[in-house]
Amino acid sequence: MDFTWSTEHRQIREMVATFADEEIAPRAEEIDATDEFPHDLIDEMSELGLLGMPFPIELGGAGLDYHAYALALEEISRASGAVGTIIAAHTSLAGNMLYEYADDDQQEEYLIPLNEGSEIGAFALSEPQAGSDVPAMETTAERDGDEYVLNGPKLWISNGSVADTIVTFAKTEPASGYRGISSFIVRADDPGFNVERTEDKLGDRGCPTAELAYKDVRIPVERRIGKEGAGFRQALETLNGGRITIAARGVGIAQASLDAALAYAQDREQFGQPIAEFQAIQHKLADMDTKVQAARLLTHRAADRKIRGAKFIKEAAQAKLFASEVSREVANEGIQIHGGYGYVKAFPVERFYRDAKLNEIYEGTSEVLRNTIASQLLD
Ligand SMILES: Cc1cc2nc3c(=O)[nH]c(=O)nc-3n(C[C@H](O)[C@H](O)[C@H](O)COP(=O)(O)OP(=O)(O)OC[C@H]3O[C@@H](n4cnc5c(N)ncnc54)[C@H](O)[C@@H]3O)c2cc1C
Repeated sequence: MDFTWSTEHRQIREMVATFADEEIAPRAEEIDATDEFPHDLIDEMSELGLLGMPFPIELGGAGLDYHAYALALEEISRASGAVGTIIAAHTSLAGNMLYEYADDDQQEEYLIPLNEGSEIGAFALSEPQAGSDVPAMETTAERDGDEYVLNGPKLWISNGSVADTIVTFAKTEPASGYRGISSFIVRADDPGFNVERTEDKLGDRGCPTAELAYKDVRIPVERRIGKEGAGFRQALETLNGGRITIAARGVGIAQASLDAALAYAQDREQFGQPIAEFQAIQHKLADMDTKVQAARLLTHRAADRKIRGAKFIKEAAQAKLFASEVSREVANEGIQIHGGYGYVKAFPVERFYRDAKLNEIYEGTSEVLRNTIASQLLD
């Protein structure tokens, strides 16, 4: 195994790290406090090619491999977990669905604007009664001549209130369970599509999480993605890839927590010496760094398998599970090392903790990922 990055990987990482430090980090507190989607920042990021990183240049993407994409997502999330989610939902979920399963005309019309950053994407799978249990979804897409008519609710949709293209899953054959699910390109200005509200969340504030309603939304059959009944498999495969970038988001938040704790521990004095001199604090820092390094390795192990075309369901689930738990644990220790100052908004560690928690819930809860890993082991 080669643990050194190529020149290209290093350059991408440095470029994104510099942008994250100079442009995202100084805005992160305000994005969190206002809970407003940072349109201007996302516009800047699109100019740098950060909205379609893993897709081919001919489709408006940056042509990067999954290592580079994960490194970039880590750096972005190190500065702001919310901006990390905005990019991951837009790219790994909405963009990937169109890249893997849409036809040429659909890619031309809907994927290229996402990759170029002139439009924003969302991935609408979850519903009030269908979270982990995807086949329980109620949204239907009934065929009517050359159109489908969509009806139903979607919940928890990242970017949902700002997206132009909402990749939407619905049942074309409700009696067929997961085999009856298909996917569609829905546009925000389609009559009958409505953003009902956005959630007031613990963390990830600034990435809007929307409840969506589809009331007799008529779309042409040309906006179905792939075959009827293929939606469930498309969603699972897309989420597998997405988990690599959510793992990278966890690593980024954990790294930010460690960096903040390291700086604070050397600065804060108690009993006449920096708290970093206490072995109890040193051991925390040692454990935090060890966990971050291990989570990063698992993330790139999964990325490596994806790049090589090897099966990566287990590896992506392990990376996402481990990095998510590490992210929460390291953020927790970051607060502990800051003492009372860690519990208030004067320091960013409380935001890291709030942002980290989400990692254990979306794109497969930790419990569901353990099921996935076990089923792969027992397969
Ligand atoms: C901020 C945020 C952003 C999100 N973004 C998106 C998005 O962009 N698109 C989208 O489609 N969805 C999105 N989601 C939805 C997310 O994927 C779901 O919340 C998640 O899949 C869990 O579903 P649920 O909330 O209905 O919980 P439930 O499925 O009801 O789970 C509740 C609890 O039961 C456990 N549980 C459920 N089933 C099992 C099982 N078989 N074995 C063991 N334990 C189980 C879970 O692990 C959890 O602890 C987002 C969610 C949040 C909070």
